Amino acid sequence: MRSEGTVLPRFGASPDDKFRGKHILSVKQFDRSDIDRVLRVAHEMRTVVDVVGSIDLLKGCVLANLFYEPSTRTSSSFIAAMQRLGGDVVAINEVRYSSVAKGETLEDTVRTLEAYADVMVLRHHEEGAAARAASVMRKPLINAGDGAGEHPTQALLDLFTMREEVGRLEGIEIALVGDLKYGRTVHSLARLAHYYDITLRLVSPPSLAMPASVLADMDALGTKYTVHESLDDVLGSLDILYMTRVQKERFANIADYEAVKGSYVITPKTMSGMRANTALLHPFPRVDEIDTAVDNDPRAAYFREIACGMVVRMALLAMVLGRA
Ligand code: ASP
Repeated sequence: MRSEGTVLPRFGASPDDKFRGKHILSVKQFDRSDIDRVLRVAHEMRTVVDVVGSIDLLKGCVLANLFYEPSTRTSSSFIAAMQRLGGDVVAINEVRYSSVAKGETLEDTVRTLEAYADVMVLRHHEEGAAARAASVMRKPLINAGDGAGEHPTQALLDLFTMREEVGRLEGIEIALVGDLKYGRTVHSLARLAHYYDITLRLVSPPSLAMPASVLADMDALGTKYTVHESLDDVLGSLDILYMTRVQKERFANIADYEAVKGSYVITPKTMSGMRANTALLHPFPRVDEIDTAVDNDPRAAYFREIACGMVVRMALLAMVLGRA
């Protein structure tokens, strides 16, 4: 991570602006006080949005939003976040209409866009792509998902949502359900659980189990977790049920995907086995793993989770630009 040579102007920088000018590539960069700060600033951002809609905190700043993979929520929430903070956006959501289609390298593309912008958000299909891009950049880069690697901003917005839903993070019990092998959001989330003494229930078919590298990190961090194939094992004791999509695009062979798709589907019957105050989250998009009949259940928190995404991304943009 770059720690010097930053070219950002200082505006009201505070002594704890440790993310000013920094890349956000992995949740491994965050300690407990960093996360608490993100959640605190995001809360302030929500007040800003609720009370005045937008402010001029990032006026004069430009975000380059570069997406090599499809996105609805991450892409548009970063754009909306920048606009609500008074900044501007250069958006490339369809790299096939950019020089990428002519064979331009990731390095050349990000070096080009950083010439126009103050901060960049990158989503890419290759694990490690964000770190690769950051290694040639001087401006801050935010990883918006690198293949099956990580999705740090999603994990932070998930924690923000969980605290809103449950009222606390300390000591809660969360089931991570579905595709734990390729799901980058759960890779990031699982690496933060220990800070709040969270117990994780890892629920997946054996072929979609949490990767050994993530389990090794969780073990080293002292994370409390158990592994299950059946959701029924854990359903009745949860604070949060975090559902995920089977990541079809990561499978080398479609037969392997067909064999596990639909392994878990949340229906009104599933909800009847949950506590009255268990919140159901999902990073979205959902395919068929949550029946739409569940949407009106007050415990279905995924649309509230989406709204949390924008304010957490407002906080992160302000922090890396040194204006939080
Ligand atoms: N939107 C999330 C991601 O980009 C989850 C998903 O695609 O299933 O990782």
